Amino acid sequence: MPMHNLVFDNRFVRELPADPVPGRHVRQVAGACYSRVEPTPVRAPRLLAWSPEVATLLGLAEADVRSPAFAEVFAGNRLLPGMEPYAACYGGHQFGNWAGQLGDGRAITLGEALNARGERWELQLKGAGPTPYSRRADGRAVLRSSLREFLCSEAMHHLGVPTTRALSLVGTGEEVVRDMFYDGRPRPDPGAVVGRVAPSFIRFGNFEIFAARGEEALLATLIDFTIERDFPEIAAEFATAPDPLARRVRWFEEVCRRTALLMAHWMRVGFVHGVMNTDNMSILGLTIDYGPYGWIDNFDPDWTPNTTDADGRRYRFGHQPRIAHWNLWQLANALYPAIGQVEPLERALALYPTVHEAESRRMTAAKLGFDAWRDGDESLVDALHRLLHAGEMDMTIFFRRLADLDPEAPDAGLFAEAFYDEGARTAVAEDLDAWLRRYAARVVEEGVPAALRRRRMNAANPMFVPRNYLAQQAIDAAEGGDLSELETLLDVLRRPYDAQPGRERFAARRPDWARHKAGCSMLSCSS
Ligand code: AMP
Ligand code: MG
Repeated sequence: MPMHNLVFDNRFVRELPADPVPGRHVRQVAGACYSRVEPTPVRAPRLLAWSPEVATLLGLAEADVRSPAFAEVFAGNRLLPGMEPYAACYGGHQFGNWAGQLGDGRAITLGEALNARGERWELQLKGAGPTPYSRRADGRAVLRSSLREFLCSEAMHHLGVPTTRALSLVGTGEEVVRDMFYDGRPRPDPGAVVGRVAPSFIRFGNFEIFAARGEEALLATLIDFTIERDFPEIAAEFATAPDPLARRVRWFEEVCRRTALLMAHWMRVGFVHGVMNTDNMSILGLTIDYGPYGWIDNFDPDWTPNTTDADGRRYRFGHQPRIAHWNLWQLANALYPAIGQVEPLERALALYPTVHEAESRRMTAAKLGFDAWRDGDESLVDALHRLLHAGEMDMTIFFRRLADLDPEAPDAGLFAEAFYDEGARTAVAEDLDAWLRRYAARVVEEGVPAALRRRRMNAANPMFVPRNYLAQQAIDAAEGGDLSELETLLDVLRRPYDAQPGRERFAARRPDWARHKAGCSMLSCSS
């Protein structure tokens, strides 16, 4: 029996109240955390890609993954013993406004698998068909966006950024109609389902919905459940001296800390989420819900990949840390009825900028090869950001090359490949020389041995990130039936900090053809 290692212990459905209404029809769901709903079967499931690391986490062998049953289960055509599928009820603030009930409109959790180490991993399908939360949409996902989620989840993990994981990408053999450019000309796209894996997919919005509805008992129940299941270290801290209110405050502080850390990581690697609505904020501080995300090529704090956000640019690269804080404020407002005091919530919120700054400094020092952050580094880093922006330099290439700089003889020629525009290059040439001299002096003064500095920098500055155009090339090939490009790209991204001889093309800056091509520069939410 394939996949016999998957043992389920479904605490979410066991311990939290369910929607009593059966069926998939769209509705408002009151007094419940979820609705029981099965995936809708698809015509021809076919495994397109999988992550060996996530399979191992779950105790699955290659033979399990390659069995026909695997594609059926992870397309939603078949349930394994112990699976109890459901869609979660949540709300959210979208683009700054309360949006009411949202919920898993196309995601369906299959169950909580316990691995041999006793770890709990929630298995969830994305694109598995309609649920009571599908609103006006079809519950499906297209191959292009599913491939992007699959690839980027795993790339993020290997980059050391907290994230939900992806086990599988399964083609459905069905087409999904999408209006990709919102121009009234919908076209059919191949459909797919991503098998997502995380300790929990609970979002800020799961708590917000109960506060908005005045369902305060349910709010408290969900908070205490989350602490006990997903924050065992906090539950343990309070085991001997139970104080439910203090425990909830302590937990919210931890959410603030983790979110601050996550934002520092996103800024470190040049990731732009694109849709930081509160329903897309993980309570565990993980990157969650990969939609129209993007990666910074030429350094530009104002860039957003999301066409839906092109006017306000609320979720632009440089704004992400502030938005996360705003989102935590919304969560604090939602938690208030379960805590009853403003002051401890405000204190927790005040942790956010402190932790974020400390983490950013630690990470930036590592990127620059410094032993530790020093007074004065702030102006050096501000100057660098201005320079990278004005010079339209590639962020990833610049930092990676900086490790090769000889501080005794700094040479701007090292960065030739980081430039996208000759005019911009000429315009910043003098400033770049001046900055490199200043940086080199700082390095010499600190006196970290060259080999150690280089090693440290290469462990902090990836050579390979899932650049928008690389993902698009893998999509174009996969849509034409060729999965080798995705396979190679995924393999490259498993070791993003290692130079991989023969694979230099995956580290190249965005080619000119990709500058304004859909999928390579801008993406819509239509997925
Ligand atoms: P997102 O902005 O992608 O996180 O989605 C916001 C909400 O819309 C969530 O409740 C999703 O489940 C829902 N949603 C997005 N796309 C679809 C779809 N194709 N079918 C059903 N629900 C969807
Ligand atoms: Mg979402």
